[in-house]
Amino acid sequence: MGTDFPREWAIILLALEAQSLCKKLHARKYPKEKKIDIYLVNLDRAKTLTRSEELVFKLFLDPGHGGRDPGATGNGLKEKDITLRIARQIRTLLVNNYQNVSVKMSRTGDSYPTLVSRTNAANAWNADFFLSIHINSGNGEGFESYIYPDSGSPTTKYQRTIHQEVIKRSDLKNRGIKEADLHVLRESRMPALLTENGFIDRASDAAKMKKNSWIEDVAQGHVNGLAKAFGLVRKNSVTYHKVAKGDTVYSLSKEYHTSVQKIKEWNNLDNDYTIYVGERLRVK
Ligand SMILES: [Zn+2]
Repeated sequence: MGTDFPREWAIILLALEAQSLCKKLHARKYPKEKKIDIYLVNLDRAKTLTRSEELVFKLFLDPGHGGRDPGATGNGLKEKDITLRIARQIRTLLVNNYQNVSVKMSRTGDSYPTLVSRTNAANAWNADFFLSIHINSGNGEGFESYIYPDSGSPTTKYQRTIHQEVIKRSDLKNRGIKEADLHVLRESRMPALLTENGFIDRASDAAKMKKNSWIEDVAQGHVNGLAKAFGLVRKNSVTYHKVAKGDTVYSLSKEYHTSVQKIKEWNNLDNDYTIYVGERLRVK
């Protein structure tokens, strides 16, 4: 990372720049909606810039147990297998669908790194977030998540956001957000979260774990939560539009949910945003 201050500060600084640019625009003849749009565009750009330069989001992903340690067992399942499948799916979804994300895993196969080596690896890599994936046991039912006691913000905020998104997708009963003094939460130097994704000894939860679609949904829930919590930017596929009579850069930005600034940059438009009927423009 090229800066030694938090990412949130960088976003605020760039947002302030966007605001002052906006004040300059007030003196000009832009209609009100366009001014607001330019402000939002710049704010959006500020966030994108922060991400696209050296501020890559570094996720340390820890599938619980492994190798000689199967974790919890029940209904013909082993915790170490389910945690690895969920974690691998999280990595795939994040890396394929989001910009500037780097994922390091404590294990990618059926091995057993010690708890100390897991947190050492995350600390040495200087991860932004530590996410440990587990499956519960002990006659309960549903999903719960843990942070280290009295972690405070932003860890509590990350927990609430990710917890909520997993609940939306996992079809598991909500057991609530919790705190616990666990090694991976205590010894990791960055905000850390441990999720317990259903009970392996509960027949109804275990039946879900046997479905590929459930593994994908649980992974997607974690990814949606991470994206929200850390403001990750999706990778967009490129889209073109043939300009028709009446189209303006502003109307195209609304139609394709993009920004006037981006359309201007992609197509090297002049400062009057001149476009011609029949012209092919990149709009996304
Ligand atoms: Zn476990």
